[in-house]
Amino acid sequence: MREISSDTIQEAVYRAITKISYHCDPCVTSALEVALKKESSELAKDALNSILLNHRVSPESNIPLCQDTGSTVVFAEIGTDMHVVGQTLPELINEAVRRAQKDCPLRASTVAEPLFERNNMNDNTPAIIHIEFVEGDKIKLLLAQKGGGAENMSFMKMLSPAAGTQGIIDFVCENVLAAGSRPCPPLILGIGIGSNFEGAPLLAKKALFEPLGRPHPDTRYREMECEITQRINSLGCGVQGFGGGCTVLATHILYAPCHIASLPVAVNIECHAHRHIEVII
Ligand code: SF4
Repeated sequence: MREISSDTIQEAVYRAITKISYHCDPCVTSALEVALKKESSELAKDALNSILLNHRVSPESNIPLCQDTGSTVVFAEIGTDMHVVGQTLPELINEAVRRAQKDCPLRASTVAEPLFERNNMNDNTPAIIHIEFVEGDKIKLLLAQKGGGAENMSFMKMLSPAAGTQGIIDFVCENVLAAGSRPCPPLILGIGIGSNFEGAPLLAKKALFEPLGRPHPDTRYREMECEITQRINSLGCGVQGFGGGCTVLATHILYAPCHIASLPVAVNIECHAHRHIEVII
């Protein structure tokens, strides 16, 4: 049984949060540069140039990529041949979140209770943590700082299985376009199809961790991803709602088995401040 100190993992989580808060994913920067070359709308070009400038200035000036520095989301895959010594995983992750919030500093963006007092936690805890056990002696953490604007525009529906491919594509495109500029396009769409009422949104969130623009291994889903991206981009919301042809940078679908009576579909919208990272220890 491999033993890993909780301090080692806490430090790795702390470094991951600070890194993604200041450094945009290079794949997103490249995709934005490609979009800029293709863009014909002057307003959209101006907005893309501002976003790209922000990507350069943020790490140089130690200013977070966005004023909404996000909530910490972690998908942890824990090898059954490893043991964390010291704190529990939630304890060490929350300690790393606290330290990052204070040291960077990151905006205090979590309220303790959602409806009445809404008092700020002032340290961004608790992180939202999903734990899964896998074979092996390593721990893998998929970590995101997820902004509220894009999260607020995310959506889910239990469709009828009769809706089929076209029903899903229509549902996704209509709702993404209805969100307009609010989730800060250009967007990345994580789509979860199947599982059940709680499983589809988790698939959608996890789909955001797929390498940007990777082709789906199943041709049928790959074609759906392409059609969704192309249809939305042809309908003109564009960068920050300024028009043009770049509302969506990439669409990623993950699917899972589901009940014969169901077709759950969830869409987790991600903005261009795509703060995602993978840590393996
Ligand atoms: S949606 Fe993204 S880019 Fe827009 S304010 Fe939130 S974190 Fe920032």
